Amino acid sequence: MGEQFRSTPRRCVFIKSGGGRCRANSVHASRYCIFHDPALAPVRDAARKAGGRARSRRAAVLPVDTPDRPLASATDICNFLARLVNEVCRGQIDPRRSNAAGYLLGIHLKATERSELEDRVAKIEKILKSLNVTSDSESFEFVPEHDSDIDEEGVEPEADDADADEQD
Ligand SMILES: [Zn+2]
Repeated sequence: MGEQFRSTPRRCVFIKSGGGRCRANSVHASRYCIFHDPALAPVRDAARKAGGRARSRRAAVLPVDTPDRPLASATDICNFLARLVNEVCRGQIDPRRSNAAGYLLGIHLKATERSELEDRVAKIEKILKSLNVTSDSESFEFVPEHDSDIDEEGVEPEADDADADEQD
């Protein structure tokens, strides 16, 4: 009962350029499938255009003439990151670009910290050299340029007083 009303899927009647028939099912009330129905051509065109627009939509980036931001110190890098976060949230920067920028900023920060450390070590070494002490000497022996303050007999006059204080 009712068997004769059941609609079995019909095949699209479109013949391909190679001569074979399209194997897709035809859409309701049509002899063609969704890809070959001439009545659906405007719909297919609109979908193609929308797809093309989505593909060609350019990633959000800063204008080419945007001046370089300072990145000389850790403070500069913090300021850059703070601005970048806001720009990403406003959709002004493509998230993939900001990910790349964040990664590079991390490397840059490490290099900056290392550079600052090297500068400090260089300054300390310069001071040590002016005091005739070298950082790679094993004893770190202090050799003053003027030895007039050294007690010739090697006596330490303050030593007894210091011990006495500690015994209380
Ligand atoms: Zn077809």
